[in-house]
Amino acid sequence: MSGETGDGPAFAGATITVDLAALRANYRYLARLAAPARVAPVVKADAYGLGAGRVATTLRQLGCRDFFVAHLHEALPLKPVLGDDIDLFVLNGLPQGAESACAAAGVIPVLNSWTQAMRWQSLAVETGRRLPAAVQLDSGMSRLGLPPQDASRLAQEAAFFEQVEVKLVMSHLACADHRQSFANHRQCRSFAALADRLPPAPRSLANSAGVFLGAAFHGDVVRPGLALYGAGPFDGEKSLMAPVVRLEAEVIQVREAPAGTGVGYGLSFVATRPVRIATVAIGYADGWPRRMEQGGVAHFQGHRLPIIGRISMDSLTIDVTSLPEGALGEGDWVELIGAHQPLGEVAATVGAIPYEILTGLGRRCRRVYLDSSEQDPCA
Ligand SMILES: *Cc1c(COP(=O)(O)O)cnc(C)c1O
Repeated sequence: MSGETGDGPAFAGATITVDLAALRANYRYLARLAAPARVAPVVKADAYGLGAGRVATTLRQLGCRDFFVAHLHEALPLKPVLGDDIDLFVLNGLPQGAESACAAAGVIPVLNSWTQAMRWQSLAVETGRRLPAAVQLDSGMSRLGLPPQDASRLAQEAAFFEQVEVKLVMSHLACADHRQSFANHRQCRSFAALADRLPPAPRSLANSAGVFLGAAFHGDVVRPGLALYGAGPFDGEKSLMAPVVRLEAEVIQVREAPAGTGVGYGLSFVATRPVRIATVAIGYADGWPRRMEQGGVAHFQGHRLPIIGRISMDSLTIDVTSLPEGALGEGDWVELIGAHQPLGEVAATVGAIPYEILTGLGRRCRRVYLDSSEQDPCA
């Protein structure tokens, strides 16, 4: 395949293929929906397992100038890759004792509490530099951000706004993935009222699902993660996003077995007829959910191959009896997430959310990036 580059172990049992053309298409789609608000991609958790460096660099080339991660330790290696003209925000805030490191790296904390705001202001005074920050307001999720009384208190602190440059005022929606939820409108109103108390600054409220809730939710900056990575934000609705991720794993053994053969830990599967079984090099240590024993499948050249028996730490077994003899052998690769079994379907099968599946993959998988605008020839 041309235009392919990868990272991770060369002989890994499983490969995540990240389609950068699909990532770009998703970005453009969200940017059109959100305009005139700008899109600030969320690349926390290593861009949901897809590789923050590669994902952020790709989106930077499309004009993104603001990015979000969750932790300072995620921001520190990413900031030099992105460069000085990029604003990189840390959603989880300013860890105690990390103020100087954060400022030295040019990373922008999201100030989530009164004490964080005061610590950042103190550093600004000490260093004689006006320091950039985002301020998060709690508009009703009760997770992060200044509660209303602290927002009012901060509004009275004229010195804070002299010493800290508030680049963004933000909040986060608790129920954005439920289109009809009244909580969305309540939070939207509450955020606007709280933000109005502070000096004017760009505003940000929407995650992926929030982008789809309409212009009232967009503010000046939207913060999608999941939708960029190819999953529709609404449960049970067909995804409008281009799939970005394919997961494949290698067949490492194939055997014929007579009726009565038990398979895997606990011999939880017993063949009721002669079967051909393939062992595939991916297990729960690779982030493939153990619960996929119930209802999980793999695909090979369009054939649906049910997972049988328990999923082990490093492998799983599939029933390949439906394939012509010799059609599949050691060294072939089967698809676990892709055109035949989309990410959303895998999540639904095990009662998980796509976020959980995506961020769980990749500790031991090889990552391959498809970097062409052409369709992947192996799809
Ligand atoms: C994770 C996160 C996002 C991105 O959410 P998606 O649902 O993946 O779009 C946006 N804002 C905040 C505060 C987050 O924690």
